[in-house]
Amino acid sequence: MTVVRYERRGPVAVVTMNRPEYRNAQNSAMTYALDEAFYRAAADDEVKVIVLAGEGRHFSAGHDIGTPGRDVHVSFERKAGLWWDHVGKEGAESRFARESEVYLGMCRRWREIPKPTIAMVQGACIAGGLMLAWVCDLIVASDDAFFADPVVRMGIPGVEYFAHPWVMPPRIAKEFLFTGDRMPARRAYEVGMVNRVVPRDDLETETFALAEKIAAMPRMGLALTKKAVNQAEDLQGMHTGMDSVFGLHHLAHAHNAETSADSLAGMDPKSMKAAADGS
Ligand code: ZN
Repeated sequence: MTVVRYERRGPVAVVTMNRPEYRNAQNSAMTYALDEAFYRAAADDEVKVIVLAGEGRHFSAGHDIGTPGRDVHVSFERKAGLWWDHVGKEGAESRFARESEVYLGMCRRWREIPKPTIAMVQGACIAGGLMLAWVCDLIVASDDAFFADPVVRMGIPGVEYFAHPWVMPPRIAKEFLFTGDRMPARRAYEVGMVNRVVPRDDLETETFALAEKIAAMPRMGLALTKKAVNQAEDLQGMHTGMDSVFGLHHLAHAHNAETSADSLAGMDPKSMKAAADGS
């Protein structure tokens, strides 16, 4: 089974994460398949807008930290930067090389796709799932969608693509991270993190109506407008801010590796859920 599906509906390319049995947990196979799909959509002159979707009940439960398809120790042909392969390296070197490529690097690359992208989010959008929604230009959420970054429970200050204080007000970002609580779609709309909240049954119709509307604009105008707003975010410190937090993120991984079972503080999906339920 392919982990990412690609299809075209008129001027709209649809890129669908397809590991519904694992709530679309992202392994590296999925990351590279997403990259290939985005590249294809960017290169296709017929495509004006890209929709990113998740098959099944949930958009994405985050990075794969515990399915049988977890492929942390597999080499892929790298795309996002010039870091060497993490495989066969030790400690922080391996983690930094890997996460520079598959997490921060890939997300930055996708944010710069020169065509408008829309995340169509239902159900869970957790941790690494946030990164995928946040790199999209617009987010349409169904009323059952929720957002959470619970990685502070692992002693880590948020996911690798640290957009939190730019996609929501800083004080809300602190609450979101300090508690690890689920932010319902309605609240995400209130704080300006998502563009629209629609009934679950209307999610696809509403998202594609929006995509079609945008697709009527000229390609170059859309590309330049996207770049203009992205540049404004970077002038507000997003790019350099993320670089500095990436260092803190890796300090946390290293601290965990030194003081506990592994760089994730010995946590897996089961213990994360148990800890959340117990609080
Ligand atoms: Zn990490």
